[in-house]
Amino acid sequence: MAVAGLHHVTAISASAQATLDFHVRVLGLRLVKRTVNFEDARAWHLYFGNEGGAPGTLITFFAAAGTRPGGRGGAGMATSWALAVPRDSLDGWKRRLKRLGVPVTESPGRFGDRALAVDDPDGLRVELVESETRAADPWPLGLHAVTLTVTDAGPTVAILEGLFGMRVAAGDETLRRVSAGAAVGSHVDVLQAPRAAQGRLAAGAIHHVAFRARDDEHQAALLAAVRASGLTASDVLDRKYFRSFYFRERGGVLFEVATDPPGFAVDENAETLGETLCLPPWLEGERAAIAAALPPLRGAARAM
Ligand code: ZN
Repeated sequence: MAVAGLHHVTAISASAQATLDFHVRVLGLRLVKRTVNFEDARAWHLYFGNEGGAPGTLITFFAAAGTRPGGRGGAGMATSWALAVPRDSLDGWKRRLKRLGVPVTESPGRFGDRALAVDDPDGLRVELVESETRAADPWPLGLHAVTLTVTDAGPTVAILEGLFGMRVAAGDETLRRVSAGAAVGSHVDVLQAPRAAQGRLAAGAIHHVAFRARDDEHQAALLAAVRASGLTASDVLDRKYFRSFYFRERGGVLFEVATDPPGFAVDENAETLGETLCLPPWLEGERAAIAAALPPLRGAARAM
């Protein structure tokens, strides 16, 4: 029954181009899919991840023309995310970020983590956390953790443990790390902030957090468990690259449960992921109008 960790985390951005440039050119992620928000095809939905776009490595953005700036995290929201980078790569990252003119700070880190912090173009804090994994290249290995800010951690932790089969790995009542035991995308840090203000869901804020179901059967069991607990969940929706259901957990954060299959190679070659606008079958008939209405988007390459 236990979830296999985080699948992806999705934020809102004011500029698709600035988001693409930052995450590919600066952070060295790969754009693995350029599609639209299936609920609002006027917005880009950009997926960034490792080379193959594996679940657990994905951060994604909705970006439409005219999106309000000034988003901020608050009670009942995911408020920051962290990417795992290879062991012994932090000094190189610091030099790289300085060279590229990106303000970088040493982050205090959590639970013994060593980390750097940068802000993305919309002001969303991103941490680069050193992992135990060695790699030839410095590029992010995947999600390390996502932080949820809630006024009372108890009900949120109970869902992560009781429904998702995750385990409290460290921390105290104020900040608890709940882990799935996955190689990437394992940790959810639950920050209890009884007096946290309401956030603002606009550019620079995180929209939702998705967890991994191994397959449709696993997902169906998770959906049944969520509903049996008294929470209201959506039906399973076809997201083309995975199938998903959604529910708001008791602390207010929007959760999604997404299947690992079929993945991003379902409509593009592995070598050319993210290079062209991909649409689900039900939007193909409107392709010309959709493409014309989206803000223009050039490709980007990793800066050396
Ligand atoms: Zn999602």
